[in-house]
Amino acid sequence: MKRDNSHRMYERARKFIPGGVNSPVRACKSVGTEPLFIDRAEGCKIYDADGNVFIDYVGSWGPMILGHRNPFVMDAVTRVLDRGSSFGAPTDLETRLAELIIDAMASIDMVRMVNSGTEATMSAIRLARAVTGRDTIIKFDGCYHGHADTLLVEAGSGVATLGIPGSPGVPEDVVKHTLSLPYNDGDCFKKVMESKGDRIACVIVEPIAGNMGLVPPVDGFLEALRELTEKTGSILIFDEVMTGFRVAYGGAQSLYGISPDITCLAKIIGGGLPVGAYGGRRDIMAHIAPQGPVYQAGTLSGNPLAMAAGIATLDQLKTPGIYDILENRSLRLEEGLNNVVAQSSVDALIQRVGSMLGMFFTNRQVENFNDAKTCNRGLYSDFYKGMLEEGVYLAPSQFESIFVSLAHDEDDIDQTLSAVEKVLDGMTKKDVF
Ligand SMILES: *Cc1c(COP(=O)(O)O)cnc(C)c1O
Repeated sequence: MKRDNSHRMYERARKFIPGGVNSPVRACKSVGTEPLFIDRAEGCKIYDADGNVFIDYVGSWGPMILGHRNPFVMDAVTRVLDRGSSFGAPTDLETRLAELIIDAMASIDMVRMVNSGTEATMSAIRLARAVTGRDTIIKFDGCYHGHADTLLVEAGSGVATLGIPGSPGVPEDVVKHTLSLPYNDGDCFKKVMESKGDRIACVIVEPIAGNMGLVPPVDGFLEALRELTEKTGSILIFDEVMTGFRVAYGGAQSLYGISPDITCLAKIIGGGLPVGAYGGRRDIMAHIAPQGPVYQAGTLSGNPLAMAAGIATLDQLKTPGIYDILENRSLRLEEGLNNVVAQSSVDALIQRVGSMLGMFFTNRQVENFNDAKTCNRGLYSDFYKGMLEEGVYLAPSQFESIFVSLAHDEDDIDQTLSAVEKVLDGMTKKDVF
């Protein structure tokens, strides 16, 4: 595979941008390669600067559920762009996207648009603290909620990939109010809530963890969070930045039938443009300025181009049966992967919820961050590099999810499975688990 142009661009980028990238995981350090520089993408295919083409399972880390260059999204954005790109004054587009979100999620009466998932979670926590008058927050190990100071404790995704437990520059004073507990451990959570519940402002969770690989909630875990937060008057925040409109139109909360107090969204609701949002019950959202005293603002919040992309994306996702198509394609990939793995000499575990999949090189269960960390990441690196050679673009870290889009057809899935078979054939169990 030719990588000369990518290599040259990377060398140049490193002179002017820290690490050559604007978000750490993109540098591909944990898999020991250099990043590919992208030229363009179309449907489920992504093309790099050397003219190599790949079947893309990163999907810009989640947003591209319709595939790249979806004609309806392109058309909507182009039409809005023609009228101006930003006004710093309200447009009806913001209300239309808000209505689509509120219709999709019964737990949301009102929603505030921001520019990223990080902003959404950061603002949701400020709101929860203001409403409860409490400081302490609970998160779970391996859940990633963006890079706000208070949430950079035992976080997954890029933080896990880099092997740093938080980050320098985050004062202890700031994170002393953050408790990080093991994911999927209802008993541990219960113990903490019994002793400290009346001091807990909020509990924030990825209802399906997608930033330590894909780890579904075990039976009863989300129910325990809902029950105990209600009992202690703490606010339950579902971070559905990744799962919202991904695992179902109504997100993980509709899949599991659990109603959080606040929901954080981003990724899909921006259709590939920068957007975030947080929403919830009317009595909680009423605290946000200018309706209430909790300050939160944004120069580009509710940007018309981003709103148009989000509306066009959700409009298409409303098509009846569309999530069944996505489910069938994803199931085909999951079953195919399981078959190929069973016939290989490598132990691997495939986990899936809807169009999110995780692949772990292990012979054990993966239910939490500790489990995910004990998987053979060296094998993942070999696998990643092999797949790239075979024309399949995966996330350059085991601590990320594989995303199937509506642009992946059965042939794309089958072609992917042939690639997996070939790559696993060339791999042997190098290390003992
Ligand atoms: C991606 C992600 C975020 C952060 O969103 P950004 O737009 O990158 O700031 C937060 N929470 C979850 C669950 C995510 O997957």
